[in-house]
Amino acid sequence: MKVRFSASAASWDEWTPALCAALPEMSLEQDGPPEIFDAIIYAPGGDISDFTPYRNVRLVQSLWAGVERIVTNGTLTQPLARMVDPGLTQGMSEYCTGWAMRAHLGMDHYAQDGIWRNGQTPPLAQERQVAVLGMGELGRAAAHMLAGLGFPVTGVSASGGAVPGVEVRPIDQLDQVLGRAQILICLLPDTPRTRNLLDAHRLALLPQGAWIINPGRGTLIEDHVLLHALDQGRPAHAVLDVFRSEPLPPEHAFWHHPAVTVTPHIAAATRPATAAPVVAENLRRALAGLPLLHLVDRTRGY
Ligand code: NDP
Repeated sequence: MKVRFSASAASWDEWTPALCAALPEMSLEQDGPPEIFDAIIYAPGGDISDFTPYRNVRLVQSLWAGVERIVTNGTLTQPLARMVDPGLTQGMSEYCTGWAMRAHLGMDHYAQDGIWRNGQTPPLAQERQVAVLGMGELGRAAAHMLAGLGFPVTGVSASGGAVPGVEVRPIDQLDQVLGRAQILICLLPDTPRTRNLLDAHRLALLPQGAWIINPGRGTLIEDHVLLHALDQGRPAHAVLDVFRSEPLPPEHAFWHHPAVTVTPHIAAATRPATAAPVVAENLRRALAGLPLLHLVDRTRGY
């Protein structure tokens, strides 16, 4: 099997040992005549922008879970699969849970300043409503981890499809869910329908003291809308991992706002050790003509 690797130069050294170990029969190449390849392993930063000449390719396997940079490529007619990887899922659940616990325990309330801030009994997890926007691979896992700690969790998805152990609402009930979301975790893909979904009106629905944690995509809320809402105190704090422009420019107001925590798109990495076996399984399926895993729906954009 001949597989073309198209990702940033640094990714080659990072990925080849794990990929070749997971699929020893594969010949992995960084270049070559397009028609010789059976599949493409893809991540942003690679050199393929026109997929037309890759006429024998049966699968384009993304190394990223978010596929907004490739899904709109009109030359891509081959099947596109996104990354679903147990390490990525675990990492995202830990990220969401960790920052949710910071919000829940009020960790920022305490400082080494000689003030004895006693007198308030903080709510237990079961008294703190969490909402998870996006009930896909990552949203479901984060919701389950938080529910396992005792938080009442409500999920929101496009379809409202059932998820065991979590109450899920369809997107047309978003406003009701926001009205009681004390911690709002956003794990939506970047699509035309999710862009600017959390507008000023919706942010104003959040309860007093609510936190937003957004490791999904930065296009969900317009920067100036979020900054204005933070200035009004609703939400009380935003933990942001993803941005319209990355790296976030040093002069951006998010870096300096006291109610914003910036993390540099590190919520969940795709780790070769856990992801390579997933890639290998899908490539084997592609070659054998078996049903492919984690296919992207081009019309939905995720
Ligand atoms: P999935 O494709 O598995 O799930 C997407 C979820 O979003 C689904 O539940 C879907 O609903 C829901 N959804 C899509 N559009 C809408 C809409 N308009 N309104 C309401 N719900 C909607 O994605 P993952 O869970 O695997 O990943 C989510 C995102 O996380 C990625 O797209 C990526 O942007 C981001 N990400 C960030 C990382 C980081 O390090 N910061 C790392 C990896 C991913 P339904 O179930 O009905 O289809």
